[in-house]
Amino acid sequence: MYEKEKRELLDACLMMKEYKLISLTGGNISIRLGDHYLVTPSGMLYEKMDINDFVVVDKEGKVVEGERKASSDLAALIYIFDKMPGVNAIIHTHQPYATAIGMNNDSLPACMVTLIDACHARVNVAPWTKSSDIGMGQLFVKYVGDASALIMKHHGVITIGKDLEEALYSAVYLEEGAKTYCIARIMGSVPELTDQEIADEAGTWVSYGQK
Ligand code: 13P
Ligand code: ZN
Repeated sequence: MYEKEKRELLDACLMMKEYKLISLTGGNISIRLGDHYLVTPSGMLYEKMDINDFVVVDKEGKVVEGERKASSDLAALIYIFDKMPGVNAIIHTHQPYATAIGMNNDSLPACMVTLIDACHARVNVAPWTKSSDIGMGQLFVKYVGDASALIMKHHGVITIGKDLEEALYSAVYLEEGAKTYCIARIMGSVPELTDQEIADEAGTWVSYGQK
């Protein structure tokens, strides 16, 4: 079941690796498919994964199809899907620049066009919570605000989207923005964009590309 969606999920896993958002088996991706969720397996190398390793679970997390153990973050992922009905894809990464910002900042300002375009707002940092626990999902819903991404202190990042592409763009552009921000901060302070500038930029994204 869901062969096409499994192929799209595998592509997204490889892109996550290509853009250096994860190392080895870190992070995970999940998609909502009606009453089911399609989830990456726990602790498997992305380069060795194939579509038969993905797990289909129901709303309670019970396995519907698949031989592998689903992501250890499953309870947190289901919590987010449950509380945010417009979210159809979740990407969790350990991307280094955004995670580094979370270690000594409360947020990453919307200071670059791609950050505004893909993450929509200032990206907050949630307080520490352990991994593989529903607490990650609870903090996500509490702290994400208007953005499509949240930095989890001392852990990584969670991004969301109405589809996989949106969640992936959010994660990749967050890392680009975080890296650029880190470099700029070494050279001095970084001025904030005004609300008007942010709103103007957000308008350009609506028709950007092949939409
Ligand atoms: P899984 O491989 O179990 O999804 O765990 C990876 C991870 O990043 C936990 O937070
Ligand atoms: Zn993690």
